[in-house]
Amino acid sequence: MDRKKVVFELVEDNAIVRRPCFICGGYSEKSQIVCEVREGLHKGKMVCEFCVQSQEIDDILKGHIESLETRAAILRSLIGRVEVPTWEQWEDKFCEVEREAERRYVEAQNK
Ligand SMILES: [Zn+2]
Repeated sequence: MDRKKVVFELVEDNAIVRRPCFICGGYSEKSQIVCEVREGLHKGKMVCEFCVQSQEIDDILKGHIESLETRAAILRSLIGRVEVPTWEQWEDKFCEVEREAERRYVEAQNK
């Protein structure tokens, strides 16, 4: 396994969107600063301000890993047991809901 340090750096950002945090799995706030890896295998990965503030990166990573493993186990347990509507049922319901919304719209316009 690669044991080289993965270095996150502070850079200016557009402050328009929240960004996913690679460390905790959460999201950053909209900010004019982003903390991301600038080169190499992990280029573009980001760490949020909450993780930076806590400085407990390894503990946060362990919690995130545990959460992903729990989620993976749940997903694995669903294999072979999931029932969903057919696409035709989906389309029929979509049309039904659209017709009903249109009917309500027309009814509201005529009041
Ligand atoms: Zn984070």
